[in-house]
Amino acid sequence: MADSEMRSMKAAVTRAKGAAFQIEDVRIGAPRHDEVLVRVVACGVCHTDIVVRDQDFESPLPAILGHEGAGVVEAVGENVHRVVPGDHVVMSYMFCGECYLCDSGHPAHCLHVGPINFGGGRLDGSTSAEDAKGEVLHDHFFGQSSFAQYAIASQNNVVKVDKDLPLELLAPLGCGLQTGAGAVLNAMKVSPGSTFAAFGTGAVGLSAVMAARIAGATRIIAVDVNAERLKLALELGATHTVNSRDGDPVAAVQEITGGRGADFTLECSGRPEVLRQAIDALGFFGTCGIVGATRMGTEVPFDVNSVMIPAKKIMGVVQGDVISETFIPTLIEFYRQGRFPFDRLIKHYDFADINQAVEDSEQGRTIKPVLRIGVA
Ligand SMILES: [Zn+2]
Ligand SMILES: [Zn+2]
Repeated sequence: MADSEMRSMKAAVTRAKGAAFQIEDVRIGAPRHDEVLVRVVACGVCHTDIVVRDQDFESPLPAILGHEGAGVVEAVGENVHRVVPGDHVVMSYMFCGECYLCDSGHPAHCLHVGPINFGGGRLDGSTSAEDAKGEVLHDHFFGQSSFAQYAIASQNNVVKVDKDLPLELLAPLGCGLQTGAGAVLNAMKVSPGSTFAAFGTGAVGLSAVMAARIAGATRIIAVDVNAERLKLALELGATHTVNSRDGDPVAAVQEITGGRGADFTLECSGRPEVLRQAIDALGFFGTCGIVGATRMGTEVPFDVNSVMIPAKKIMGVVQGDVISETFIPTLIEFYRQGRFPFDRLIKHYDFADINQAVEDSEQGRTIKPVLRIGVA
């Protein structure tokens, strides 16, 4: 790309498997015809950033990660009509918009979901960022790479949001929060009067708890080993909590549901043994949603008859199977009405403290770290 089109910025670069994020001076190119250059104001830290840093999900390095970015549109390509410079946007996951899965209303399960979000560049293999030496930095992570002062997104994955709410609040809506809330409201369709259990009460699980209350579930059970999070779950809508350190969580869910088992469970922890519990805790015609990412190749055994006879369903869910363009504004409305108080999950960090933010998340000290990267 011509030098005149390159813009200097700071970005947190992941150089090697498991290495700390390193803030570097880098350069980024101009948006292509269907792309949007966003000046990043804030970016949430999600479990998937850590999974990719550690290469449990393979994605080429060195790279700029970060996929819960929010910011201000700085420039748009000539074919972009959805947003204009100055608009506030939340960036979400990327999809092709042309495959049969995108066409059938399931862009989160896009046929190209792997390469388009984790491929380290555009689908054609090109990238737009380079380091101080002019070496390629893999980018377009989730169609954004938002651990940076600027991100190249696409008109497919930017969601225009109201300007009266701070972008440093809205940033995590683009992945973790829509994943939990979308799994409950959109993918599993938790119904009024049903029983629901979230296994794991990080940002995804607690979003699911808040959404289950919105859906009208009457018994909402939060399962975890972190007593502080279970306490917060009660404040956000859980009617019961189960600390797995105190005994068998499956038996506890059975007891809370009057011996029936839960109508819906959501596995948010990414731990194989917990998925087994989430399946076993279901009652007749119950549905277990899986949103917790595990290392590629992970298998979980279950008792076939214990699934067949009670007619249980086990379903994978990516990004709540939501269309971010409509679902994120809905979550913002719920927030305004006091029904989705996701601000209670967030702790803000300066961009320079990214490694502290990640460590606090890994240690369970912070539920949803959000990095302050720029000013609105
Ligand atoms: Zn994520
Ligand atoms: Zn697609």
